[in-house]
Formats: sequence, C-alpha cells, structure tokens
Amino acid sequence: APYRVFTPFWRAWTRAPWRRLADTPAAVRLPDGLDPGALPGIDRSGCSPRLPTGGERAGRALLGAWAREQLADYAEGHDDLAGDRTSRISPYLHFGCLSPLEVATRLSDRPGGEAFVRQLAWRDFHHETTARFPALPHTDLRPRGREWRDDPQLLATWQEGRTGVAIVDAGMRQLLEEGWMHNRVRMLTASYLTKTLGLDWRLGARHFLRWLVDGDIANNSANWQWVAGTGTDTRPNRVLNPYRQAARFDPRGEYLRRYLGSDGTLPGFDELPR
Ligand code: FAD
Repeated sequence: APYRVFTPFWRAWTRAPWRRLADTPAAVRLPDGLDPGALPGIDRSGCSPRLPTGGERAGRALLGAWAREQLADYAEGHDDLAGDRTSRISPYLHFGCLSPLEVATRLSDRPGGEAFVRQLAWRDFHHETTARFPALPHTDLRPRGREWRDDPQLLATWQEGRTGVAIVDAGMRQLLEEGWMHNRVRMLTASYLTKTLGLDWRLGARHFLRWLVDGDIANNSANWQWVAGTGTDTRPNRVLNPYRQAARFDPRGEYLRRYLGSDGTLPGFDELPR
C-alpha cells in the first residue's frame, strides 16, 4: 500500500538499500555527422533579477562549501531566517545538475547528515505521492469540502507582498527577487493564503511555480496541499501564526528588513517583471 504519512515512509526509506553511484563517463560520444551548433543565448526577461549561477560546477561548489560550514548545525540552524543557513541546492536538484543519490551518499554519515538527508526523503515522499496520485497538482488528495473565496484583488496583494503582514510580504518579495524562498517562509505564506485569506491553494501553487527557480510540480503541489490541509499532513487544521513565526525565527527582524527595506518597499520592486 502507498505510504500516506511521512514518518513510516521515512522509516522504510532509511532501511531500503541504495544503488551504487553510476560512474561518470570519460567522454560523451555524439553520433557521427552531427553538427551540435551553437548554444542559444539566455533570455532573462521575465526572470527574477537575482538568480543563482546554473550548472553542475556551481552546484557542487555550493554544496561543498555549505557542507563544510553548515551541515553539522543543520538540525538547529535550518529555520534561522536571517542566517539563511539551508543549502540552497534545490534549483540544482530540480534541473539535474546535482544527483540526490550522490548528495545523500556523500553527506549521510557526516555530523548533521541524518537531519539533512531526511529532507531529501521528503522530496522522495512528495514525488512518490504524486506518482501514485497524478491528479495531485490540481485535485485535492483528501477533499475537506472547503469553499474557497474568489477575490483576485486579495490574491494580488499576496502575490506582490502587500498584505501588511511583514513576514508574509518579505517572503513574497524574496520570491520575486531571487526566485527562491526559505522553506519556513514558504510554509507560512502558503498557510496565510489558504487558511487566513481563504484563497484556493491552486492559485498560490501557480504563482510559486511561475517564480520559483526550483519550481517542481511534485514538491510544489504536494507541499501546497500539505499546508492547505488537503494533503498528507496528519494535522490538517493547523494554522501557522505569522507573527509568532516571525518572533521565533526572525527575532531581530533582519530577514524582514532584508526584503522590505527600512521604508517597507523593496528596492527596485517596481522594475520587477510581472
Ligand atoms: P535544504 O533545507 O537545504 O534541504 C535540502 C533539500 O531537501 C532541498 O533542496 C529539497 O530538495 C529537499 N527538501 C527540503 N524540504 C523539503 C520539502 N518540504 N519538500 C520536498 N523536498 C524538500 N521544493 C522544491 O524543490 N520545489 C518546489 O517547487 C517547492 N515548493 C514548495 C512549496 C511550498 C508551499 C512549501 C512549503 C515547500 C516547497 N518546497 C519546494 C520545499 C522546500 O521549501 C524547498 O525544497 C527548500 O526550501 C529548498 O531550499 P534548500 O535547498 O536550501 O533546502
């Protein structure tokens, strides 16, 4: 039977054998007579202005430096919003620049490795749930009979970071500016949209997918449903209080100021593409 809850999945995941890493081919042989042509240029219009550098080399360098400095403290430090102490490897995993098996194999036995690898298991869990329930990106996994509000203007205030709740607005602006958002803030902005404003999780998921550089149909939809209470959360009615979350995870307001600026506006916000 499919796993419906993460913890039993994780227990089975830790017991499952891992396949060996495949050898890197020394060279990639193209079929004879093929003219590969020039690489097309990159069109950055419509993208966030501060995207990370792509590619395997950048991904490996990032992971190596992060593991040296942060892995050992991952369990305690990952929710420190101002410290920005998670790995930020999600775009590299999404585009296949890093292999999750290789990341797990390299790091699992190091101090802090277990807590980190557990997050990679969440990724597998959401992919497995999506594979077993392919309608997940648009259909409630566990319908709860919610009536969503229809309010495009309210949706726009959330999308643009103008709700008036500072931690929510900071997160939504981080998303527009960097194409990435800290997991804790993804959770609380999603909770705010669905549980506080009463807007449909699908609208939020679509906005995230439009902007996230790690935007991934399985991870995004399954996490949205988890937060909206229609997915695999065993406490579907939980509501994250954004003020309490901000006090706990950004006690000095440094994360807020980084994205809101001192006058509450993001520098250059008006120039962001829509
Ligand atoms: P780290 O904390 O360093 O974790 C390492 C890796 O573990 C991540 O790169 C990711 O592959 C995996 N991971 C960690 N947390 C989760 C999680 N909750 N679910 C699945 N995998 C996880 N992640 C995406 O990759 N793509 C998405 O489109 C996406 N949408 C999300 C939407 C919402 C509403 C929420 C709450 C979470 C979403 N996540 C998504 C999960 C998580 O927020 C990101 O994977 C994480 O913030 C990436 O940053 P990091 O690489 O620094 O994470």
